[in-house]
Amino acid sequence: MKNENSSGIIGEIVKVDLDRCNGCLKCIRACTVRVFEKFETKTMQGTAMKVRPAREEECFFCLLCELACPLEAIEIKSYYSSGDTLKALLDY
Ligand code: SF4
Ligand code: SF4
Repeated sequence: MKNENSSGIIGEIVKVDLDRCNGCLKCIRACTVRVFEKFETKTMQGTAMKVRPAREEECFFCLLCELACPLEAIEIKSYYSSGDTLKALLDY
């Protein structure tokens, strides 16, 4: 599968830094709801495997992918960790 984005950070909730990702696929194995998919991208040496968050809406913020990634290429933006959301809950 081709992808026009082969560098930089992709994803809104499940963010993957493609410059760090080495395609080890540990995040795919860690995620029980199959948020990630692999894709091939062209490099100077030929091709490289990367991962993108294809189904972010399935994420339930377990953070296993963040823990599994050896290169700290994943950041989960949980609604529950946002200051605004916490403040709204406290004000309720
Ligand atoms: S936080 Fe959990 S559910 Fe969300 S993408 Fe990572 S492993 Fe999947
Ligand atoms: S675990 Fe990290 S380095 Fe490995 S494929 Fe996933 S995002 Fe890329």
